[in-house]
Amino acid sequence: MTVKEYYRDAYLAELDSKVISCREVKGGFEVLLDKTVFFPESGGQPSDSGMLGDAVVTDVRIVGEDVVHITDRPLPLGPVHGVIDFEKRYGRMQNHTGEHIMSGIAHRLHGCENVGFHLTDTAMTLDFDKYLTPEQLSELEMLANRVVRRCVDVETFFPSEDELGDIVYRSKSELEGAIRIVRIEGVDVCACCAPHVANTGEVGTIKILSSERWKGGVRLYAACGELATREIGARCDALSTAAAGLSVKPTEIGVGIDRLRAELSEAKLSASKLKKGYIDLLARSKEQTEGNILIFDELLDMPSACELASLLAKKCRIAAVVSGRTYAVASEKEDMRAFSKQLNAELEGRGGGRAGLASGSLNATKEKIERFFEK
Ligand SMILES: [Zn+2]
Repeated sequence: MTVKEYYRDAYLAELDSKVISCREVKGGFEVLLDKTVFFPESGGQPSDSGMLGDAVVTDVRIVGEDVVHITDRPLPLGPVHGVIDFEKRYGRMQNHTGEHIMSGIAHRLHGCENVGFHLTDTAMTLDFDKYLTPEQLSELEMLANRVVRRCVDVETFFPSEDELGDIVYRSKSELEGAIRIVRIEGVDVCACCAPHVANTGEVGTIKILSSERWKGGVRLYAACGELATREIGARCDALSTAAAGLSVKPTEIGVGIDRLRAELSEAKLSASKLKKGYIDLLARSKEQTEGNILIFDELLDMPSACELASLLAKKCRIAAVVSGRTYAVASEKEDMRAFSKQLNAELEGRGGGRAGLASGSLNATKEKIERFFEK
């Protein structure tokens, strides 16, 4: 059994221990120590990274009573010095403790159970089995930060079976073996094996960044400590960039967006009027004829080309509008379904439509298109 020194002291970053065994496995070497500071991946929290001697520790797993270290090179049996990346570990300790504070409050106020937890170095998610409204989440965040400012001790201990019988605690699943309790007096009591900070004050900040409905409950994207500072900073930067683009203060970004929407809607209306006027003008420019009318116009999009072709169809046998590689053909005398098939075959086209109007794309020179419609 590996002695898990991270239970005794979550702030221990270095440790002299002994390599008991080392064997090659897929992707590296599996190293067993007599004792370790490396926390293995567990309960939604990733494993510690760091060095064992001159070997890089790429993964740490719990296997039965043992902690298995995966390293990038073999290690000789005997003494070895282990060092974890403590900045990373500390960030996780801050976030994990923040999670306990939020889950404890949500449990007490709303009877929520934490049914999912995932932590990386860039994000944390918490899943509650009950939905909480944005107002309830704001209150939860405010109360959680009060616990941070009150600087409450975070106690961790292994109670005896008798003692455990008297403790009411949250637990994500049925636990086996010795149960480790994490207690934040007046806030939360939970069974948990991960390292935490010793005092809620060290969590620094708790920020719920966003939330979404999740399996009948709610999923929170939250951040604590340094991660919260980074995430809030990134959002402030994005807000400043957007505000500068809108020429407003960051707090008035909503006003800027409303103004932009109004301008856009006015511009769309104006463009639509202009387009209609342009189509009418083009339609009026053509004389009545017994033959076909063909117009090339790069400015027209597909709906406009169809609209123009339909207007021109009143003046001729077949009206065709070509804009770039798109075409629209309309007629009140001939079936455009059959005609578009013929057009597609001769002008490398694709598309179709209904009896009076067909549209699609083609791939032919202007001269070839003109010759086709002269027929
Ligand atoms: Zn925990």
